[in-house]
Amino acid sequence: MQLIDGKKISLEIQETIAEEVKTLLAQGKKKPHLAAILVGNDGGSETYVASKIKTCENVGFNSTLLRFPSDVSEEKLLQAVEDLNNNDDVDGFIVQLPLPKHINEHKVIEAVKPSKDVDGFHPINMGRMVLNLPAYVSATPYGIVQLLDRYNIETSGKNCVVIGRSHIVGSPMSILLAKNTKVGNCTVTLCHSKTKDLKSFTTKADIIVCALGSPEFLKADMVKEGAVVIDVGTTRVASSETKSGFKLKGDVKFDEVAPKCSYITPVPGGVGPMTIASLIMNTLLAAKKEIYK
Ligand code: NAP
Repeated sequence: MQLIDGKKISLEIQETIAEEVKTLLAQGKKKPHLAAILVGNDGGSETYVASKIKTCENVGFNSTLLRFPSDVSEEKLLQAVEDLNNNDDVDGFIVQLPLPKHINEHKVIEAVKPSKDVDGFHPINMGRMVLNLPAYVSATPYGIVQLLDRYNIETSGKNCVVIGRSHIVGSPMSILLAKNTKVGNCTVTLCHSKTKDLKSFTTKADIIVCALGSPEFLKADMVKEGAVVIDVGTTRVASSETKSGFKLKGDVKFDEVAPKCSYITPVPGGVGPMTIASLIMNTLLAAKKEIYK
């Protein structure tokens, strides 16, 4: 079994990006600039945004964090999005999800200018991704593709099961893995909460991407010998072992599944750091105007 070290690959990508930033500055160009909108004070969202901002600093980007209280009006939030759309110094920005219930998430996502939508959630970027046109690919699936690529994991002709069909992880992941690309050409089965006899699919899978948000859901008897298992899940569970009072649990029962795998990602240290690396890669593309000329 080989552990897929997302933290290490993420740091390698960050080093390459930091070099590219130095080159841009030497050419007299400005620093790439990522902005983030954070609504409310959900602990998970705070942590994710803080590490995105910190990674910006690590690679030499500028970053801006715009915070709003959880009772901010939809109108005010849409105005903040519009201001970032029109701010020439900001290359790309994200609106950290989830948003409070009184705000229409789709309306906010659609308000982001596609050329600054470095999360790749806007319908235009999703559509372009599906059609093999240049697009910002949503960060988590893009990060997983990078991991499979850098570990030279063969995907062509493999049976792949993706568990979870969310717009930000499972659905784009299933599309990317089925594409006629270097990391692709899988025969993909997309499973969800209505799937009957999930185990009959997972036990035939060469590659399993587990993205449902249910701690330790995937057990050893659901996985065949030699499978590649990618664990996207990050659920905060209470823990007396950590200073913060919680720890992150993946969707895979790691201790029993890992011995059966050829490759597996840990939680933390697997997919999570790659999501941030991909966001930074997308922001660099935005700064260089490589997707939308
Ligand atoms: P989500 O929007 O809640 O979607 C969960 C999906 O899992 C849904 O499609 C749901 O099916 C399916 N599902 C739920 N229970 C199931 C079951 N028992 N069997 C089969 N499918 C089931 O979640 P998400 O945003 O995709 O996130 C999934 C997990 O990944 C969460 O733990 C999240 O925190 C984590 N995540 C991690 C990163 C990272 O960077 N590491 C990034 C994003 C998300 P239905 O559609 O039928 O409801």
